Amino acid sequence: MMEFVTLNNGVKMPQIGYGVYQMPPVETERAVNDALSAGYRLIDTAAAYMNEEGVGAAIKKSGIAREELFVTTKLWVQDISYEAAGTAFERSLQKLGLDYLDLYLIHQPMGDFFGAWRWLEELHRAGKIRAIGVSNFYPAVLANFCETVEIKPMVNQVELHPFFQQEAALATMKEYGVVPQAWGPLAEGKHGIFTHPVLTKIGEKYRKTAAQVALRWNTQRGVSILPKSVRAERIAVNLDIWDFALNEAEMAEIAKLDLGHSEIVNH
Ligand code: NDP
Repeated sequence: MMEFVTLNNGVKMPQIGYGVYQMPPVETERAVNDALSAGYRLIDTAAAYMNEEGVGAAIKKSGIAREELFVTTKLWVQDISYEAAGTAFERSLQKLGLDYLDLYLIHQPMGDFFGAWRWLEELHRAGKIRAIGVSNFYPAVLANFCETVEIKPMVNQVELHPFFQQEAALATMKEYGVVPQAWGPLAEGKHGIFTHPVLTKIGEKYRKTAAQVALRWNTQRGVSILPKSVRAERIAVNLDIWDFALNEAEMAEIAKLDLGHSEIVNH
C-alpha cells in the first residue's frame, strides 16, 4: 500500500520515500535494492551525497518500470547559479542513468539560487524534470522566493520530526501551495526517539514502534517523509505505517514534544 500527495502541478508523489544521506557509495546499491524490494518507489539522493551512481545501479537492476519510480536529487552549493545549474543537472542525470528526473531540489538557499531556479524552470518546461523544488528554505526566504519566481516550488524539504515540528514554516508552505517534505523524520536518532516513552506508549496500542508512530504522525499532518536506514528489517518497518491512524488526542500529545529548535543543524 502506498499513499500519494499531489503537487501544485498535478504530479503525484509517494508520501513516503527512501533517503540515502550518509550512505557510503558501495553500500548504496544494496540498500536501495532492499528499499525497492520492500516497496519504496521514491528514492531521495543528492549530488552532495556522492552516491547517485549507486542509486542508478539499483534502479537499473530492479527492472521496475521507470514511470513507477519517483527519483529526487539535489543541486549542491557550488553549482547554485544560472551558469552552473544546467551542467550539474546533466551530471546528476548521467550518474543516475536516467533521461529525466521526477524532482530536482535546490539543496540550500545559498549562492545565486534565483539564477539557478531560472535554469530549473527551463528544464521543467522542456520535460526533463517533472517537478522542481527547494530545500532548507526558511519561511522568510521561501515567501520572498515564491513572491518573485515565475514557477513556484512544488516541494520544500526541511527538517521535520516530533522534536522540531516547525508549524509556522508549514503554514507558510501551505499558503504558497508548497508540499512539505521531511528530512530527518526520525530525528537522526536524537533525543531518544526510538525509545521515547510518549511515542512508545502510543505505539503499544497499535502494535507499532516509536519510529512508526513518529513517521505516521508526520504523514497525518500532510508531510511527506524520507526515513533512512541501511538495514533491511528497519527499511521494511519504516514503510509499514499505513494500517493504523493516530487519533486527535494522540496527535495533540505528540504536538507537546516540540523543542522549537533543531538538535541536528544550526543554519
Ligand atoms: P533519519 O531521521 O531518517 O534517521 C536515520 C537514522 O535512524 C539512522 O541512524 C538509522 O540507522 C536510524 N534508523 C532508521 N530507522 C530506524 C528504526 N526503525 N529503528 C531504529 N533506528 C532506525 O535521518 P536522515 O538524516 O538520514 O534523513 C532522512 C533522509 O532525508 C536522508 O537520507 C536524506 O535523503 C534526506 N536529508 C536531506 C537533507 C537536506 O538538507 N535536504 C538533510 C538530511 C537528510 P541505520 O541506518 O543504521 O538503520
